[in-house]
Amino acid sequence: MKISGWGRFPDIDATILSTDSYEAIAKQIADGPLIGRGLGRSYGDSSLANQVIDSTRLDHLISFDRNSGLLRCQAGVTLDSLLKIIVPAGWFLPVTPGTARITIGGAIASDVHGKNHHVAGCFSQFVRSISIATVSEGIIECSPQQHEALFRATCGGMGLTGLVLEAEIQLIKINSAMINETVIKTRNLDHSLETFAERADTTYSVAWIDCLAGGRSLGRSVIMLGEHSDHGPLDAGDISPITVPVDFPGFVLNPTTTGLFNKLYYARAPGREVTRQQHYRPYFYPLDKLHQWNRIYGKNGFAQYQFVIPIAAGLPVLRELLSRIRDSRQASFLAVLKAFGKANDNPLSFPIEGYTLALDFKINQQLPDLLQRLDEQVIDAGGRISLTKDAFLSENSFKRMYPDWEKFCEVRKAYGADRCFHSLQSERLGL
Ligand SMILES: Cc1cc2nc3c(=O)[nH]c(=O)nc-3n(C[C@H](O)[C@H](O)[C@H](O)COP(=O)(O)OP(=O)(O)OC[C@H]3O[C@@H](n4cnc5c(N)ncnc54)[C@H](O)[C@@H]3O)c2cc1C
Repeated sequence: MKISGWGRFPDIDATILSTDSYEAIAKQIADGPLIGRGLGRSYGDSSLANQVIDSTRLDHLISFDRNSGLLRCQAGVTLDSLLKIIVPAGWFLPVTPGTARITIGGAIASDVHGKNHHVAGCFSQFVRSISIATVSEGIIECSPQQHEALFRATCGGMGLTGLVLEAEIQLIKINSAMINETVIKTRNLDHSLETFAERADTTYSVAWIDCLAGGRSLGRSVIMLGEHSDHGPLDAGDISPITVPVDFPGFVLNPTTTGLFNKLYYARAPGREVTRQQHYRPYFYPLDKLHQWNRIYGKNGFAQYQFVIPIAAGLPVLRELLSRIRDSRQASFLAVLKAFGKANDNPLSFPIEGYTLALDFKINQQLPDLLQRLDEQVIDAGGRISLTKDAFLSENSFKRMYPDWEKFCEVRKAYGADRCFHSLQSERLGL
C-alpha cells in the first residue's frame, strides 16, 4: 500500500508486515531489510521503506503498578490509550509530545520531548527498560544497566537498532486532569526569550510565534505556561472525532491567508497575563481536535522544520533565522518556540540546551534550497534539526549536526542492525 509520514511527502509503495507474534517478527527481521513503524506521525521519511513492520498490533498493557506508577506495555500502545488508563488512576505521562496519536515505540525511537524538556528531559529519561528484537542477539532486554549502548542508541535511534517490542516506563503522579495555564502575550522575540528565562522553573512552557510579523514585532508570540492543577476530576477525556474531509486546494494556504490567521491568533490572546484552568487535552494536544489536519496543506504535502540553537548563540541567530524564514514568504501558520534543558547521552537524541523553533512549509520547488541554507546557518551556530521531522537533510549536514553518528553506527553493527534496519531517511543520511 501507499504510505507516507505525517507531512505526506514523500509517499511510497510499501509491503506492510502486520503481526502481534514475536516469533513472526523475529523471522521477518531475519529476512530484512525493513523498518519499524507506529502511527506514522513522524513528518518525513523515517518510517518509510519498501518493507515495513507495523507495530500497532502490539497493543497490550502488560502491567501497571498503581502505587509506584511503573508501567510496562507493548510498543504499539498509543499515548491516547495509555492516558485513558493512567489518568483516572492519578498518573500522567512524564513527557508528552504535541499529539497523543503516537505509539510508545515511536516515542522511544524519536526520543520525543514535550513542553517540559527544560526541567524533565526527553521521554527516554523515564524509560526503565526496553525489550527489543535484534538481528544478532534475538529478543533481549536493554536498559541503562544492561546492554547500555544499545539502550542509548535505540532511544532517538529512529528505528535503526531493532524493533522495540515492550517498554517499562515510570509515570508521574497527578491529582487532577486539569492544567493551570498562564497566557502571556509578548511584543517581540527579545521579550519572548526574556519571559522564558524569567519563568524557567515553570513545568510546562511553549510559545506560538507569529512568524510572519516583521520589524519591531519580529518574533511576537503568545506564551502558554502550565502546571498540573490539584483541583478537578481525574477525567481522561477523549480525542475529538472532527475530520478534515478532503485535501485543501493548493491556493487556500498563501501568505495572505496564513498572515491573517496569525494576526487573528495573536489579537485573540488577552492583552495582560491571565491564568485559567483547562483540561490537559486542549493544553497538550490542541491539534488532535482535528483529525487528518495534514490535509489542509493540500495533496503535495508539507515539511516541518524544527531546529535547536544553543543558548550561547541564542537571540541574534534566532532573529536572523526568523527573518530569513519570514522573507522567504514560504512559512505557514504559527511557529512553535520552546526552551530545551541539558542534552542526554543518547547519540541521536535531538535536544541540546537552547531554544527550539518548529514550523511548517508547504512542499514546493524552492523548499529544498531554502532548507539547505537554513541548515548551514543552524550548523554554523552549533545547532541541529530534528530527525523525526526531517525529509530533506543531506548526509554531510547530518554528520556535522550529530557528531556522535559514528558511535551510533558502531552499535548498529554490533547488534547486526546494519544488515536489516533501513529507512529512506537512513539511506539519505548515510547510516
Ligand atoms: C501534531 C504533532 C505534534 C508533534 N509534537 C511533537 C513534540 O512536541 N515533540 C516531539 O518530540 N515530537 C513531536 N511530534 C513527532 C512525533 O511525536 C514523533 O514523530 C513520533 O515518533 C511518532 O510516533 P509514531 O508512533 O507515529 O511513529 P512513526 O512515525 O511510525 O515512526 C517514527 C520513528 O519511530 C520508529 N519506530 C516506530 N515504532 C517502532 C518500534 N516498535 N520499534 C522501533 N522503532 C520504531 C520508526 O522506524 C521511525 O523511525 C509530533 C507529531 C505530530 C503529528
